[in-house]
Amino acid sequence: MAAALTLDQWTDQAGKLAYRNQAFIGGKYVPALSGKTFECISPIDGKRLTSVAACDAADVDVAVKAARAAFESGVWSGLAPARRKKIMIRFADLMLKHRDELALLETLDMGKPIRFSTSVDIPGAANCIAWYGEAIDKLYDEVAPTDPSAIAFIRKEPVGVVAAVVPWNFPLLMASWKIGPVLAAGNSMILKPAEQSPLTALRIAELAMEAGIPEGVFNVVPGFGETAGQALGRHMDVDCVTFTGSTEVGKYFLKYAGESNMKRVSLECGGKSPNIVLADAPDLDAAAKAAAIGIFFNQGEVCNAASRLLVQDSIKDEFVEKVIAASGRFKPGNPLDPKTQMGAMVDATQTKRVMSYIDAGRNEGAVVRMGGSRALTETGGHYIEPTLFDQVDNGMKIAQEEIFGPVLATIGFKDVDDAIRIANDTIYGLASAVWTRDISTAHKVANKLKTGVVWVNTFDAGDMSTPFGGYKQSGFGRDKSLHALEKYTQVKMTWIQL
Ligand code: NAD
Repeated sequence: MAAALTLDQWTDQAGKLAYRNQAFIGGKYVPALSGKTFECISPIDGKRLTSVAACDAADVDVAVKAARAAFESGVWSGLAPARRKKIMIRFADLMLKHRDELALLETLDMGKPIRFSTSVDIPGAANCIAWYGEAIDKLYDEVAPTDPSAIAFIRKEPVGVVAAVVPWNFPLLMASWKIGPVLAAGNSMILKPAEQSPLTALRIAELAMEAGIPEGVFNVVPGFGETAGQALGRHMDVDCVTFTGSTEVGKYFLKYAGESNMKRVSLECGGKSPNIVLADAPDLDAAAKAAAIGIFFNQGEVCNAASRLLVQDSIKDEFVEKVIAASGRFKPGNPLDPKTQMGAMVDATQTKRVMSYIDAGRNEGAVVRMGGSRALTETGGHYIEPTLFDQVDNGMKIAQEEIFGPVLATIGFKDVDDAIRIANDTIYGLASAVWTRDISTAHKVANKLKTGVVWVNTFDAGDMSTPFGGYKQSGFGRDKSLHALEKYTQVKMTWIQL
């Protein structure tokens, strides 16, 4: 666990880190063809970490050509699944071997507490890669129940060249949710990390090679969304885009596909998840603790964050007090301190955005019961206090828009029907939770919630075997589980007349 090293030791290690800061294309680190770079700034203290290659359409084109050549050659796509499995498990093992280094890169780059990058992000990413490696040689294709005069095989083939465009909140973990199934299925890929957090993606590229993934199969192209991201979305030889990020940008990818080669697109987008606490919840203390973790973990920069707390009127005041008490552990602090449970916001822009939502909540008449201000400004970094609004109406901006920060909107409701109505009154449909001791109510509510994930008497539970993804404008397609493979394979029917 992270706590093995002290703040001084992590700080010392941070000072000695070397950064991979060039694109990784065709098995080599290369600068952007334009020679341009962008600054990688740590949100912990506002200091520069390194300058990273700012790739654009020209680099994307080289990367796509490398990925295409690798795919068509069969060096990876043509391997027996059992051989891909071994290489992927080795890749996962190498990630674990370099856990502390990768965790440190993640923490310095985007500000999350080291205790979580070592215990959640890096092991979670490695587990995901290994899981798909382990799964891939256990899946069978189909034979259709045709007339006996024929045999029809239904086989799953890799789609080809996949572009994965990912966000900054769990940089390596979100990337791995793509890398695992994409590579296991035999595709070649180009990963574009977010410009706020490119460092772990660049570092694992060489680990992939060391594990035995052939050159050209796994490429990493850092750069901005409007340039590198858009170029991937519009490239005529990319077969599939798998995207995690905002709903706004997700819609661009649909447009890019429509205006280029009609490539497949799958979208894991934003959320405004309702966490419904009924008066008959089995354990209000446990529910309050989960509500606090649900919104304040990872500084609230979580797609399925429990950002709307819906509490039955009869217990609301008591419950809000419990959530405030349970939030004490989320005091902003130096992310390199293993005791810190709430780190820095990813950058100045996101900090400004979150603060503008806090202002909007106040202006619309919601009541700040906790937090509401910036913290640790003397560090030069970007920190915001965990913030709890009460007396929120679901029509308010802070209840409708994804804030992606440590801001909780508490909304009262009368009865179950009222709770379901409010919960579904959003453009999003990623996740939801309901707390009740009545099994029948739990099923009824779960059936009526328009979200891809529903939790009962818990929040944010799941493992690699459970699919994750949204309804409505939270996107479509699923990450994790065997369902994710559907996005990266296509179905071929071969009919043999006997
Ligand atoms: P974002 O949409 O701004 O960026 C995501 C990625 O898209 C980045 O790599 C970025 O460079 C790229 N991009 C940005 N503009 C682009 C453009 N015009 N064309 C092509 N690519 C472009 O999102 P973000 O701020 O990095 O991440 C936060 C968002 O991600 C939140 O909305 C959050 O809910 C969502 N998210 C969703 C999930 C999920 O599984 N549903 C998981 C994590 C994060």
